[in-house]
Order: sequence, then structure tokens, then C-alpha cells
Amino acid sequence: MTDDIASRPGPAQEPSQSPAGGPILFAPATPAAFGSAPIALAPDATPLSAGPGDPTEARGGPVEGKVLILGSGPAGLTAAIYAARANLEPIVLAGSTPGGQLMITSDVENYPGFPDGIQGPELMAAFRAQAERFGSRIVDIDVDRIDFTSRPFRAWARGTEYRGDAVIVATGASALWLGLESETRLRGRGVSACATCDGFFFRGKEIAVVGGGDTALEEALFLTRFATKVHLLHRRDRLRASRIMADRAFAHPQIEVQLNTSVEEVLGESHVEGLRLRQTDTGEGREVALDGLFVAIGYKPNTDLFRDVLDVDEMGYLKVHHETGSKIEGVFIAGDVHDHRYRQAITAAGEGCKAAIDAERWLEMHAGRPATVAVAAQG
Ligand code: NDP
Repeated sequence: MTDDIASRPGPAQEPSQSPAGGPILFAPATPAAFGSAPIALAPDATPLSAGPGDPTEARGGPVEGKVLILGSGPAGLTAAIYAARANLEPIVLAGSTPGGQLMITSDVENYPGFPDGIQGPELMAAFRAQAERFGSRIVDIDVDRIDFTSRPFRAWARGTEYRGDAVIVATGASALWLGLESETRLRGRGVSACATCDGFFFRGKEIAVVGGGDTALEEALFLTRFATKVHLLHRRDRLRASRIMADRAFAHPQIEVQLNTSVEEVLGESHVEGLRLRQTDTGEGREVALDGLFVAIGYKPNTDLFRDVLDVDEMGYLKVHHETGSKIEGVFIAGDVHDHRYRQAITAAGEGCKAAIDAERWLEMHAGRPATVAVAAQG
């Protein structure tokens, strides 16, 4: 963890330990308006407080910038870096658990520039430090409401109004849960969606990961650093994950891949004591004793605020028009909030860059024009 992030103020957190054993603090891995990610903080971190240049000082607002960026994953923070360097005075409404999905990712091995890999939270700390270096104002707060019907566009968060002549929506996607009552009840008591945050607690224990995609396999492989055995439970007869990840999982001596297996119930009263499983091909049920369950079954786009305002597809992701545009001129879209095809940090960062450049050019063209909104043709 870098000094930059360690000294950065943030929201109230619950104590935890970093995978490396160093002290960090993290928020519960629950879906929030912007990602479900916890953020690593120094032990003496305090909630974001008003200070010189801090947008929260104008509680009640309005707090104004040329560009308002919603979301603080790779897309949002890359947009902030580009917008700040273009003197667009970006305000980033980062969410109460900022940083996006990389905050719940362990080793990132495919982000260019890091030949030995980098931890997701460390990468996001570097993104944030770079955005702040050029003057981005970042507030770790969830947006409650938006109004994109006229310019300046407006967003409200905890009673404060934020305004921008252009908006970049980069709110990402959040982890999905199985939907079992026992899963919800035991969340934080052995059930988790964040191996990076919680893996440390399972040192010497036996655990399970549910899911058959790259995320599940990545989590399972990461968790072998702590757990004695990892059951990888997947409901179908073949994994969805990439070949290289599947090969690694099958070859790992601590991972037991169990196909055609669904989780029916998490067992235990105050903490996880086991799972009730079902063979999806035979219908046969069985119970297994273990200490933890990591859920890694995919994501939901964070688009609830925008569904009545912007176009969404059948899966709830935002639709883009002309590269990074939306159906409202001056409102741009970047990253996983619309992209369910690539969903990579590098593609999200690339889109953040594109959205900031598009916003800059759009603002240049519209400088001095009346504050009206032209709704672009759909499609
Ligand atoms: P995916 O959608 O790829 O996989 C989700 C998995 O969870 C599937 O195997 C699915 O089963 C299973 N699942 C979904 N719902 C349930 C449920 N209710 N009960 C049980 N199982 C369920 O999501 P990922 O998060 O794994 O990956 C998303 C994208 O990100 C992918 O494109 C992936 O390649 C990429 N990624 C890349 C990484 C990297 O390059 N390092 C790391 C992580 C992700 P089923 O197969 O039956 O549908």
C-alpha cells in the first residue's frame, strides 16, 4: 500500500488486515451506489472532512466544476486525470466505498506496465494519487439523486448539490450474491465476496468459492495463500473461465474443482460451519464442513440512478451512442457501467480517457451557448 493512500482520509471503516498482514481498514463488501469495493486506509484514518479546496466544505452546495465524474474505478479516475490536465476542474463523486472492482481483486497480472503484477488496491491508489496530483477534487460519497434535464447538470449527495457543465458516468458494476437467506445472515461471518479483504482470516482453514468464471478462479487461486483447501463449486459441467485460469485451478494441489454443484444453504448460526450442496446433474444432496464461503458469480451494473434518464440495455447496462456519448448531449459514459463484453481495467481506463477527451471537445464547442439540453437521436 502506498503512502498516498495510507494517509488519505475516507469513510468510517471496520478493522481488518491486509493480505500481506499489514494493518488496513475496510468497509463491508456490500453493493453500494459505486462498486462494492472497500478501500484500504491508515489505522488513524478519519472520515472525509471539509478543508481548503475540499468540495464538502460547501455542504448544501452548489459545488461547481466543469466536469462532474460519477464513479472512481479505472474509468472514473482516468477520466479525472485527463479532465484535470485539461483544466476542467473535475469533481469526482467517488462513492462511499471508492475504487471500483479492483479493490476486491488480488493480483492484477494483465495491466500493462507491471511485469510482476500489482495488487488491485495498490493500482487504484496510484490512479487516485495521479488524479489528485493534477487537482481533481474527489469526494468519497454516494450520489442520491441526479438531474440531467438542464445544464449545468446536477447531482446531490448527502444534502450537497454538485454541478458540472458535462458529466461522465463511470459508476461500474457490483458483485452479485446467491440470494440465500443464510448467505445474507452470515455475510461478514465467514461469507464474503472479497478474497483480498478477507482471505487473511482463513489462514489454515478450509473454504469454498462459488462460481465458474475468471473471478471465481482468481479468488480460489488467491485464497490458496491462506486456506489449506479451497473447494471450487460450479453449477455446470464446465467452467466459464479462460483456459489458462482453468488449467491453473485444476493443477493446483489445494483446489478441488467440483462441477455440477450448487450451494443450497450456508450452515451455521453465528459463523459459517459448512455448506449444504446439491449435485445439479443427479439431484443428490450432501453437506460439507468448512469455515468460509467466497461468492464470485459476476456483477450487476450500477445504473439504478440513470434508468429513467439514459438508455439501458436488457441486462441493465447503459447504452452508449457514438463512442462515449449518451442520449443526452454533454453526458458521457465510460467503463463497466456499459461494458459487459470486455470488463477489464485497461479497457475501462481507456474509455475514461476517451470520455474525458470527448467531454473536453464538447465543452469547447458549447462554451457560451445557452444552458439547454439537446437530446441526441437514439440508436
Ligand atoms: P462471469 O459472468 O464470467 O462468470 C460468473 C460465473 O458465476 C459463471 O460461471 C456463472 O455460471 C456463475 N453464476 C452466476 N450466477 C450464479 C448463481 N446464481 N449461482 C451459481 N453460480 C452462478 O463473471 P466473472 O466475474 O467471473 O467475470 C466477468 C468478466 O471479467 C469475464 O469476462 C472475465 O473473463 C473477466 N475477468 C478477467 C480477469 C482477468 O483477466 N484477470 C479476472 C476476472 C474477471 P454459468 O457459467 O453457469 O453461467
